[in-house]
Amino acid sequence: MLLSAFESSRSERIPCVCCGSLKFTPVHLREDKTLVVHCEECHLKFVNPLPTVAAMQENYQKEMTGNEAESGLHSRYILERQARIKSFSKLYNSRLSLIESLYSGKGNLLDIGCGAGFFLNCAKERGWNCHGLEILPEYIKFAQENFALENLRLESLDESLSYDANTFDVITLWDLIEHLRNPLDCLKRIHHVMKPGGLLVMWTPNVKNAVFLKENWIGYETLQHFYFFSRDSLNQMLEKAGFKIVHLETNKARKGLLNQKGFNAYNDSAKPNNIMEKFLRSAKRDFKNTLNPLTYIGPLFDMAGYGFNLYIIASKQGD
Ligand SMILES: [Zn+2]
Repeated sequence: MLLSAFESSRSERIPCVCCGSLKFTPVHLREDKTLVVHCEECHLKFVNPLPTVAAMQENYQKEMTGNEAESGLHSRYILERQARIKSFSKLYNSRLSLIESLYSGKGNLLDIGCGAGFFLNCAKERGWNCHGLEILPEYIKFAQENFALENLRLESLDESLSYDANTFDVITLWDLIEHLRNPLDCLKRIHHVMKPGGLLVMWTPNVKNAVFLKENWIGYETLQHFYFFSRDSLNQMLEKAGFKIVHLETNKARKGLLNQKGFNAYNDSAKPNNIMEKFLRSAKRDFKNTLNPLTYIGPLFDMAGYGFNLYIIASKQGD
């Protein structure tokens, strides 16, 4: 199945976006019949050939907005952040503290794929001059109405990045680079609008987390994801675009090390009704975690570079 799909897609395959090679081995045939391949030259894993832009946009709209109000990922994403505002704010503040420890001064920050503006709102409160790029108008509207964020543009990084050269001190891409059609071109666009020495901050699934599950890794399942980076493949691409890594870590290894489905899905109806229920539920969770060996070995895999997420900060080198 995998091999025959791989053979029959030969004529539509594009050269590797990072190194230009046409030598691939098949990795995984996904439920929408797209193929994940491995570049034999530079070891980048990505979907090749890519589905058409029209097909992806249709899927995305359907998935994000659903058919009625309150349905679709778009509303759930906002509801989740509103319900867990404290833990998200803690997460965003810790990300910003790390960025601020690596960069002096708070200047222009651009969040590409800024969603409904929750991260930018935190950055604004800490004194950053915030800009955002987003392809879903519903998110932009929410961010403008709820956080009074002004500098938001409805624009796709895949097509353009319409800012002047040397504008930004920091550019963030949270869970974004894996969605792009040509990440190398996009990184070059980012390089152009960033100030020399500015920081590019990225968070993306780490394909090394597939170490045990191989082609059954949960990270391959998201059909909107086209690129599956490791530290090395992302580093090669960053170097080609003119960036040098200054911080790297991997985290949350247990998410994809053994589990295949349904990790940590947010479910609004599962919210505890009172303090007692909340207490019992968290006690049950703690007990389950105590018995789960991944609780203890997960952090070791994180440190060894096998975490589910790659968290990379790179600085802009000369043109
Ligand atoms: Zn390659």
